[in-house]
Amino acid sequence: MIKCAHQKTGVHMPEDDGKLTDAEMKIVNKWLGEKWVRGSLCYVCGQSDWEVESYLAHAPLIRAGLIARLGEKAYPFILVICANCGHTVFINAVAMGISKGAA
Ligand SMILES: [Zn+2]
Repeated sequence: MIKCAHQKTGVHMPEDDGKLTDAEMKIVNKWLGEKWVRGSLCYVCGQSDWEVESYLAHAPLIRAGLIARLGEKAYPFILVICANCGHTVFINAVAMGISKGAA
């Protein structure tokens, strides 16, 4: 079972904006339960202690000749992080049904 990171560490981010709701975490856990069938061992360290970050991350779109800036369109991601080494897997939140698309 993959846990929400803050449930294990007790550490919370300072802002509430962007934090996944309980209903969204249920969607994430359901998706992972259906799709995370080969990801039990970390690619880097071989451990299997994964956590789901409780906030969305995003990767900005970079267009030719432009540097990514805050406020630009971006893809939202769910982060699944190895608790042993920090290796992080980015899963598209749109594909999971968490986000409506590039913001
Ligand atoms: Zn690892």
